[in-house]
Amino acid sequence: MVVTVDQIREGGLSLDETLSESFLTHALAEVKDTGFRPDGPALLHVKLQKTGSGVLLRGSTEVAVHTLCRRCLADVHLRIPVSFTLNLVAQAARKGGEDEDDEQTERAGTFDLERADEELFDGKTIDLDPLVREQVLLAVPMHAVCTEDCRGLCGTCGQNLNEGQCDCARGQVDPRLAALKNIKLN
Ligand SMILES: [Zn+2]
Ligand SMILES: [Zn+2]
Repeated sequence: MVVTVDQIREGGLSLDETLSESFLTHALAEVKDTGFRPDGPALLHVKLQKTGSGVLLRGSTEVAVHTLCRRCLADVHLRIPVSFTLNLVAQAARKGGEDEDDEQTERAGTFDLERADEELFDGKTIDLDPLVREQVLLAVPMHAVCTEDCRGLCGTCGQNLNEGQCDCARGQVDPRLAALKNIKLN
């Protein structure tokens, strides 16, 4: 979705946009495969407001996704809240400021952090799609588990240990103890 700065009135511009399932699939898998897939479309709410140097963009949505439990490989469904504030700075307002930026970075270590939510744009049109895709990607956790105390799969026979113990557990030696056993004492 493309918004022009001219569309943003004094009181700001509020928009609701449906993020299609294919849009979300792209966000979650095509740039970097997160292992998460959307359960369906999501509704994005955005508000744009003009600032001295560009546009302030606030957005929020909740994306329903599924993935495999990292321990037992069962299907996990979860809802990921996505909420962001980006300071869109018109490129022209930044012209020639790059050298100055470098100096400031050296002087203040926190400078980059304070600027982390800043994005450059041409000052006229804002393409929301790549911005939203990036924010969805950032909101996704590294992995998910079906339950916090999921016991996972047996490393030997593949038995789902949430469903019951397998025979492999008998006589199993803690790998740390096994390592000790191999130490030759003379
Ligand atoms: Zn699990
Ligand atoms: Zn087993």
